Amino acid sequence: MPMYEFRCSRCNRRMQDLFKVDECPKLIECPCGGLADRVVSLIANTASQWGDSHGYYDRGLGTYVENAQHRERVMKKRGLVSLQDYDKNYVEDRLQKRQDVFDQHERDVRDYKQYRALGRSKGEAMAEVYNAERLTEDGLME
Ligand SMILES: [Zn+2]
Repeated sequence: MPMYEFRCSRCNRRMQDLFKVDECPKLIECPCGGLADRVVSLIANTASQWGDSHGYYDRGLGTYVENAQHRERVMKKRGLVSLQDYDKNYVEDRLQKRQDVFDQHERDVRDYKQYRALGRSKGEAMAEVYNAERLTEDGLME
C-alpha cells in the first residue's frame, strides 16, 4: 500500500498516511481544523527488473511509471500535485493574501481620511473603515 503525504494549507503541517490507491482521499482534515491536500513528495526511483527503458516503480505514487511525462499524467489523473508545485502555489497564495491585506489597508486609510474631512468624529470615521486596529498602529487614531 503506498504512503500518501498531505499538507495543510492553513498551518502547513505535513501528515502521512497509508491508503489503498483507489481509496485515498484528496483532502483530509487537519488537527488545526483546516484541510490538508494530498501531495506527492517521494521521487524514489526503483529501476524495474527490465531496466530503465521500461520505467521505474514510483513509491510516492505506488505504481510503475515510464518516465517523467508519464508520471505527470498519472498524477494529473489522480488529482495530485507534486510537493514542489504545491510549495510554489502555497507561496504565491500567501504573497497574494499579503498584497490583499496591504491593499485593504490603503483603502481604509483613504476612507478614514475622507470621513474625517467630511467632519465625522474619529470614532465615527473609525466605525466606517474595515480595520481600525491598523489605523491605530499608524498613529492615525488614538
Ligand atoms: Zn492544519
